[in-house]
Amino acid sequence: MTKVNVIQPGTIEAPPGDIPFLLLPERNTFQARASRLRALAEGHALADYLRFLAALARAQHESLSLFRRVLLPEAQELERCREHGMPPLGTRGWVRDPVWREALRGILTELEAGTLPEAGRATAARLKDTDDASLERVAETLLAGDYDETLDRAAIPFIGAALQAYWLHLVTTLGAGAFGRLETPHLCPACGSAPMVSVVSVGASDHGLRYLTCPLCSMQWHAVRIKCVFCDTTKGIAYYGIEGGSAAVKAESCEACQGYLKILYMENDPNMDALADDVASIALDVLMADSGITRRGTNFFLF
Ligand SMILES: [Zn+2]
Ligand SMILES: [Zn+2]
Repeated sequence: MTKVNVIQPGTIEAPPGDIPFLLLPERNTFQARASRLRALAEGHALADYLRFLAALARAQHESLSLFRRVLLPEAQELERCREHGMPPLGTRGWVRDPVWREALRGILTELEAGTLPEAGRATAARLKDTDDASLERVAETLLAGDYDETLDRAAIPFIGAALQAYWLHLVTTLGAGAFGRLETPHLCPACGSAPMVSVVSVGASDHGLRYLTCPLCSMQWHAVRIKCVFCDTTKGIAYYGIEGGSAAVKAESCEACQGYLKILYMENDPNMDALADDVASIALDVLMADSGITRRGTNFFLF
């Protein structure tokens, strides 16, 4: 039995002149994600984890109210970044407002009040007692993508969730007009993160277009289809899906760099959420790992 089947790619789209380059996330992103996670949990092998992530997403949404006076980049700085193709809220360059730690504590308190699994409860209690400097160090490591053995894996979902809430607040406050195209087109124009997955849209002005999704700030930015976003080649691109599985999620692999990024087709399931559906389709990652192709997408909840 073949577990993975190759799906024929369609034709390469000719991008029209006037397409939206950025799709700004909604302020209710976490709320929508929580509903999607709850729906995906029904009958899923990872039901408990998906329900935990739904509770986390709800807590993230609540934490947005904690961001009242948050430092934003100056207009001049935004202008300079647009000119030089740099992300103004870069994970390495932008100085984080300490308010993100308030969001973290808010998220932990919210979760502790609900039904948190035993292991999660212990991690939450430990994080609440962790000093600021240590929390900043974990955030630094996570944002730099240094997933070595010193990184506290159990803490990643909580720290990642607080950082996501903070960055979502920043981008939704600044608006899409604040950001320009980057020198490195596969990185997020707002925060410079590598993409989590790509999504083929179904909207009125963006129908059939492919957007890369940011794992940190939830921004989406346009990328042409059937082309490796990491090495720019259009040759040797293949699409894998699970036989008998959902037609809405595929793995787009590149022969040249031996990596893949998941692609979500909204027309097959308009209720999808990039992060939630990435986690729920982990079976596809397991099959891809078996075939020796490396996952490229970053997701704080897939460790
Ligand atoms: Zn981003
Ligand atoms: Zn490639």
